[in-house]
Amino acid sequence: MRFLPLLLVLALWTGTGTGAEAQSARALFSSQASPSSHQPHAIGRHARGCLAGGIRLPESGPGWQAMRLGRNRHWAHPKTLAFVERLSRQAIAAGWRGLYIGDISQPRGGPAPGHASHQTGLDVDIWMLPPSRLDLSRGERERLSSISVRSADGRSVNGNWTVAHHRILEAAARDPEVERIFVTGPVKLRMCADAGPRDRGWLAKIRPWWGHDTHFHVRMTCPAGQPGCVAPDPLPPGDGCAEAVWWVTEALEPPDPDAPPPPPRPELRLADLPPQCRTVLETP
Ligand SMILES: [Zn+2]
Repeated sequence: MRFLPLLLVLALWTGTGTGAEAQSARALFSSQASPSSHQPHAIGRHARGCLAGGIRLPESGPGWQAMRLGRNRHWAHPKTLAFVERLSRQAIAAGWRGLYIGDISQPRGGPAPGHASHQTGLDVDIWMLPPSRLDLSRGERERLSSISVRSADGRSVNGNWTVAHHRILEAAARDPEVERIFVTGPVKLRMCADAGPRDRGWLAKIRPWWGHDTHFHVRMTCPAGQPGCVAPDPLPPGDGCAEAVWWVTEALEPPDPDAPPPPPRPELRLADLPPQCRTVLETP
């Protein structure tokens, strides 16, 4: 099976006159069913990169289950897998049975439908739904859905939010290998309100963003000794709590009907990714 993706890629490349570099990076990376035979290496940026030598998260572990196995998006850098194991232990300590793990990366990373980032094996989505069991079948993992922790009007958390959510997210933010975590705005504000007056530095890593009410998204720092991995811009100073109010006020106002629609985001071509990503695609 290792040869199939390479043949597919070669067929794609020889089938057009434009050359691989001009092709849709998403199409090229989404067609890969297995990782490249390299040492694990995160290449480029979280939203413009790829993953060499991806390792798959075991479908079930002592404290987690990988969800939606049919998507084949549980490929990761080993440091992300070690984090899942660490955080699942902390989830159990907080009173949960463990964690339900959503998307990480495709076998060779790169752009995937539905995600701007998740390209380097260093981003992992974790469900807000507390696991009821850790012996779900493959079919159950496809059918079960997470829950939202955001109120219908988008201004606060709802009754699904618990102290355990806070403890798990705080543990993730305090993890030195975690770069930042994306959550819905109301979660950020609630955590700001519930955190004590002292020792609030970890709150800086809890970042409000669109969506992220049914899962939180953890981004790992670049692995040590992998210069090809490009770190995101540093977090702004402060705990970010005052700035987060925007997400439950102005962000919820209806858009100006006279404003021009935002320009569509151009699709990434292979040439937009670091050149090593072509090697990742070409190596069986
Ligand atoms: Zn995500």
